[in-house]
Amino acid sequence: MSSYRAEYIWIDGSEPTQFIRSKTKVIEKNDSPSVWGFDGSSTNQAVGSDSDCVLNPVYTCPDPLRSEGDILVLCEVLNINMSPHSSNQRSKCLDIFNKYSIHEPWFGIEQEYTFFDGSRPLGWPLNGFPAPQGGYYCGVGANEVFGRDIVEDHLEACLKAGLKISGINAEVMPAQWEFQVGPLDPVAVSDQLWVARWLLYRIAEDYGITITLDPKPVKGDWNGAGAHTNFSTKEMRESYAPIIAGAKALGAKVDLHIVNYGDRIEERLTGQHETCSYKEFRYGVSDRGASIRIPWQVDKDQKGYLEDRRPNANCNPYLVTGLITETVCEAIQT
Ligand code: ADP
Ligand code: MN
Ligand code: MN
Ligand code: MN
Repeated sequence: MSSYRAEYIWIDGSEPTQFIRSKTKVIEKNDSPSVWGFDGSSTNQAVGSDSDCVLNPVYTCPDPLRSEGDILVLCEVLNINMSPHSSNQRSKCLDIFNKYSIHEPWFGIEQEYTFFDGSRPLGWPLNGFPAPQGGYYCGVGANEVFGRDIVEDHLEACLKAGLKISGINAEVMPAQWEFQVGPLDPVAVSDQLWVARWLLYRIAEDYGITITLDPKPVKGDWNGAGAHTNFSTKEMRESYAPIIAGAKALGAKVDLHIVNYGDRIEERLTGQHETCSYKEFRYGVSDRGASIRIPWQVDKDQKGYLEDRRPNANCNPYLVTGLITETVCEAIQT
């Protein structure tokens, strides 16, 4: 073919939760993807009288859903004078990463999400509720899990795109699933998570199924959806004391983190359903009711990483990884 297709993907200005958009550019075979523009007045990023925003390519990978040679192009949004747009959390995250890169921060994010079929979670009965939670987590069988064909298609697409996916599993609430991205640096893990989210929405579209990152898609005795964020620095990967220091540093900035960890976090961090209340902070080994969990293996090895269990499924990973990097690295530096 004399040309290829580039799907330009960017994060919009929706409030309180940013969403993702994309459009296609056909590019001549010998050209590479360049900056492009879009109508910011349709994405809550500009006013109609001054509507142009700039798409600046930051991460490119093969498009696993089209043909050989077609690509996905994740972009950051700039103003027409090429300064970062106010909705551009990536550029802030990159500044923080550059400031603390000597600590080699790594992140692994567990993205939970829920399938919806119309107004109901996929596979739920027309009237009433499925059996109470208990058997669904990592379940198998048509009465336990719903939507595995989409999950498998998504995993395959992510791997073909070259994303660093580390695993998938069915979650505690039926129709809820998880994939993990990482470990990677704060900017890379966030870039790849946004691309993986885009692929998920796009693949489920062909099944007529929607994805929600709603942190509490069903009220009542049903688990919410989070984005547990696993974090380490070079020092933490070598010894134990920096892990405890990191947990303590996070405990000193609770309010700042909670307000940036995703809209309606207080609905999910209730103190029930494997969460610690947003009003409290504690860390502990193997404790799934803590804000920060130190995995059992990490305690045993006396080195590794910590898990911040608080971020919501609907968080912006650039914000979350930027904040954790800054809070922890600032504390261990002084
Ligand atoms: P959980 O037991 O909480 O369900 P998962 O296996 O779902 O944990 O996810 C753990 C995540 O932690 C994975 O994305 C993995 O890549 C990441 N991870 C592993 N080691 C590190 C590390 N040293 N630093 C940061 N993240 C890590
Ligand atoms: Mn997990
Ligand atoms: Mn999970
Ligand atoms: Mn977890």
